[in-house]
Amino acid sequence: MQTPIKKVVIAGGGTAGWMTAALMQKVLQGQIEIELIESEDIGIVGVGEATIPPIQVFNQFLGLDEKEFLRETNGTIKLAIQFENWRVDGESYLHTFGAPGANVGFCNFQHYWLKAYKSGLEKSIWEYDLNYLCCIDESFNKINTQNPLFEMPYAYHFDSSLYGKYLRKIAEKGGVIRTEGIIEHIQQDPTSGHITGLQLRSGQQINGDLFIDCTGTRALLSQKTLGVEYEDWSHWLAADSALAVQTNRFDKTLPYTRSIAHDIGWQWRIPLTHRNGNGIVFSSQYMSDEQAHDRLINNLDSEPVNDVRKISFKTGRTKEQWHKNVISVGLASGFLEPLESTSIHLIQSAIVRLLKLFPHQGIQQSAVDLYNEESKTEYETIRDFIILHYYVNERNDSDFWRDMRTLPLPDRLAHKIQVFSDVGEIFNDQHDIFRDASWLQVMLGQGILPKDYHPSVNQMSDAQLSDMLAKVHAAKRQPLAKMLPHDEFLTHYLKVG
Ligand SMILES: Cc1cc2nc3c(=O)[nH]c(=O)nc-3n(C[C@H](O)[C@H](O)[C@H](O)COP(=O)(O)OP(=O)(O)OC[C@H]3O[C@@H](n4cnc5c(N)ncnc54)[C@H](O)[C@@H]3O)c2cc1C
Repeated sequence: MQTPIKKVVIAGGGTAGWMTAALMQKVLQGQIEIELIESEDIGIVGVGEATIPPIQVFNQFLGLDEKEFLRETNGTIKLAIQFENWRVDGESYLHTFGAPGANVGFCNFQHYWLKAYKSGLEKSIWEYDLNYLCCIDESFNKINTQNPLFEMPYAYHFDSSLYGKYLRKIAEKGGVIRTEGIIEHIQQDPTSGHITGLQLRSGQQINGDLFIDCTGTRALLSQKTLGVEYEDWSHWLAADSALAVQTNRFDKTLPYTRSIAHDIGWQWRIPLTHRNGNGIVFSSQYMSDEQAHDRLINNLDSEPVNDVRKISFKTGRTKEQWHKNVISVGLASGFLEPLESTSIHLIQSAIVRLLKLFPHQGIQQSAVDLYNEESKTEYETIRDFIILHYYVNERNDSDFWRDMRTLPLPDRLAHKIQVFSDVGEIFNDQHDIFRDASWLQVMLGQGILPKDYHPSVNQMSDAQLSDMLAKVHAAKRQPLAKMLPHDEFLTHYLKVG
């Protein structure tokens, strides 16, 4: 017999727990009871400061005012990630949230650019992307337009622990019950194995019908109690460690994240309004903690404001993100290194998926299977996108980078690289959060230049092609006149209203 879901218990109150609580409360208000348990003694992972544009949809759905949100989280605007030294030392490119050019009928813009480039055009494809132009200008402004040429998708850098606190206020105001305490015992139904209740160290008992495991890497409910298996991907992504440190803010707030590759691994720099987030991601097979520590400390733009913190991880995911009556969300569901700022997005899409399939009349296996299938593809396509950055490199300064070039690739990624390299096209999976323009920028940025362009481009004469490219370039530059230096934008925007 199916049990209708009347009460949802969220175990854990990090970014995952509070994002889940806030959205679930908003969508199912009045229909279910929601209780969240978290422990201040255990705390949260407390890193995670860069996001991708769909976070705006999440915030808008919750009804958050953007200015208030930025003030509450010390947030800044993110238009892109700058990848420095990834292909070869000394070179950089941007993966922006925008898209170069404009598609002309049947044919994607890259084919037009490619023909011109192969005939000597000096402009890179990024010159036709407004996000890129603003990054180079270090500027931003909000554009109110219906013209797709002027679209400038953006995301945020923010302090994720402040975001959690902000969402907590909203969720509690909406009726979510928060209980402080350490979960010590987990009860299961002897027949079905479903979780029935959580007992806290204080002796308090909390029962529920559906449980969301947001206990971070502890994965108390899913992995520890139900024994859900973890799929280890470290043979593809070797990094297993990070050192994080916060520093004083730079003089200037860049509207993009910096990802700086070094001889073993890479370093992030994330500008917030009150400080910067920094860290190094590396593989313990290739580098000791002491070496990584030195590399990080010697490569900071400003003074540290706290101690360096080590975080170990295993790249991969739980095989069944929904198992029995437990759904794992956030770090409890898996981990992919923060190279493309995808973890907070994975939280968002897990909750949205769950809410779409919400089992109010009881859990249906068809919904569980769909949930698991979609989240598997989503995780795998992000994994492939991250592998691409490492695999296609021309660095020769360490065994690390040489080894990355000989990785046996997942089939889908190998196929994707081959198709782009042969005919300049990108194919997408429906659940891949990165669309054509993202793959295009990273493939080109890492040094894959397609052998051929589409023949329909030849319908334009060389003069027509050059005229069309000049017009697109001029159009893309047009909004620059209205942009403000990023800091000026923040000061002005956050002061008014
Ligand atoms: C180095 C690094 C950099 C990152 N950078 C980014 C980034 O730039 N962008 C991005 O999107 N993501 C990033 N992430 C990922 C991001 O930090 C996480 O996805 C996000 O913070 C969610 O964490 P969480 O809520 O799942 O886990 P946690 O923050 O660990 O929260 C776990 C919760 O469970 C509770 N808990 C655990 N055990 C118990 C218990 N027994 N009883 C009661 N409560 C318990 C804890 O108290 C806590 O409230 C990064 C991660 C790392 C490691």
